[in-house]
Amino acid sequence: MPICIECRHPVKTLWTEYSGAAGGAGAASPKGQIIRLTVCRNCGNFCDKYVEHDFVVMFIDLVLIKPQVYRHLLHNTLMREHDQFDPSIIRLGVLLLLFDVYLTWARIEKQAVPASSNHVLNQLAQQPIILQYIFFLLHCSLSTLAFHFSIRLLTSSRFSPLSFLGLLPTYHRPNSVSTALLVSSSTKLFPILMVIWEYDVPAAARSLGWAVVANNVEALKILLDCSYGVAAFLTAVGALARWGVGRGVFSAVGIEGVDDGLGIRSLWASGGHLGELWAAG
Ligand SMILES: [Zn+2]
Repeated sequence: MPICIECRHPVKTLWTEYSGAAGGAGAASPKGQIIRLTVCRNCGNFCDKYVEHDFVVMFIDLVLIKPQVYRHLLHNTLMREHDQFDPSIIRLGVLLLLFDVYLTWARIEKQAVPASSNHVLNQLAQQPIILQYIFFLLHCSLSTLAFHFSIRLLTSSRFSPLSFLGLLPTYHRPNSVSTALLVSSSTKLFPILMVIWEYDVPAAARSLGWAVVANNVEALKILLDCSYGVAAFLTAVGALARWGVGRGVFSAVGIEGVDDGLGIRSLWASGGHLGELWAAG
């Protein structure tokens, strides 16, 4: 059942369709019919103003982490009967994965260049492109799966310690949890700008990583209706699982000591460095 995106009150329909020319607060729907947005009986606002908004506005609000746009997408648009994935979410998932491959590859390649400190990395860089691509595809697929499944386990499994402790009631729609994580990770698509501009600052990549984390927390909080603490805990466990599996794949081929996407290991160092840059003006 759809909800009012302002106050979460369940509503029967988000808009009413008119075939004839009805005046008032009507607007043309994408199919050309006249629609009138439902006004919420609970809070008096329009139940879902995003019905009329185009994708660009929604994407901007998504990046700005507006709870209403998350409610619109997660509850009113993408939630399917029997917890099936919306086809557009599967496409977004594939796009995000391919993007992840590109970014990881670029990041690792950059670390392989300076003064042959890591022999395995240099060996990897000399392999045929297709082999390198398959390696990074495998790395990113496994770490993404670890991220999703660890969070789905905690939210939707009967054996979740969170439901056992009474911190989070079991959420019976694991695919909706993955949908929330994918939608909120779309900030990752921003580095497409890298293709246009030379983008050589690891700190920028890290802030982007942290922006995705903030989006993930907000999306989980909105979908599960839990506290920020629980949502942050879930995101942290997922990130830890992703980092662990990613590191495992690198270790399996002998690559050690590479920077992870969030740069937790070198966060303090880069923080200090940023401070110096700031001071230098
Ligand atoms: Zn309302």
